[in-house]
Amino acid sequence: MDTCEGNFAGLRRAMVEHQLRARGISDDRVLEVMTDLPREKFIGPTHRHEAHEDRPVPIGSGQTISQPYIVALMSQELAVAPTHRVLDVGAGSGYQTAILARLGRQVFAVERIAELAERAGAVLTELGIDNVTLTVGDGTLGWAEHAPFDRIICGAAGPDVPEAWIEQLAEGGRIVMPVGGLEVQNLIALEKHGGKVTRRDICGVRFVKLIGQHGWDNNRP
Ligand code: SAH
Repeated sequence: MDTCEGNFAGLRRAMVEHQLRARGISDDRVLEVMTDLPREKFIGPTHRHEAHEDRPVPIGSGQTISQPYIVALMSQELAVAPTHRVLDVGAGSGYQTAILARLGRQVFAVERIAELAERAGAVLTELGIDNVTLTVGDGTLGWAEHAPFDRIICGAAGPDVPEAWIEQLAEGGRIVMPVGGLEVQNLIALEKHGGKVTRRDICGVRFVKLIGQHGWDNNRP
């Protein structure tokens, strides 16, 4: 281990203790994966030194990687089991995708910006994560070819939960995503039992836009 990697490992441990555990993240598998996974590798050189700070960080193309606490909270709320097949919409840097890949069996990740998807794919390969299928496209349509999914997560905020996701969600499945207006949203968890859907609000959040057929229109500010 060189000095730099050693420093990053220390920053990660501090991040997990002070930003996650201290604020109530208690899922041991999530804490373990976030202690282990090199978050700095998912962030370009310009912002790499900010990788473990308690806020979102730019990843290029006007997008951001969520604050560590929000990533942990969403991962905990998603409750991914080792047998689960997960749809990840808005792969961005690939950091959340990598966490899901460690927690579940197979991850299907969709990102609309090709440049980000390409970089995310390269980092996942570098880390030897081989249970992710990544594509460029409009994730608001889900990914019918690989449905049903036990879990669906989205790192961008839409006006509502896309209908296709509910259709492509397995019985007993769960969706975690931010829903609301362009400025502020609610992080919600949706569950499907016996064909019925229940929705729970988790907390207020602020995410980048989910842009697509069942999201926001890219041409509006
Ligand atoms: N989970 C990501 C968060 C990235 S920000 C991470 O850990 O880095 C949200 C991402 O959603 C952006 O990269 C944005 O381009 C993408 N996005 C927005 N609308 C989308 C859509 N309809 N389909 C796929 N990706 C989308």
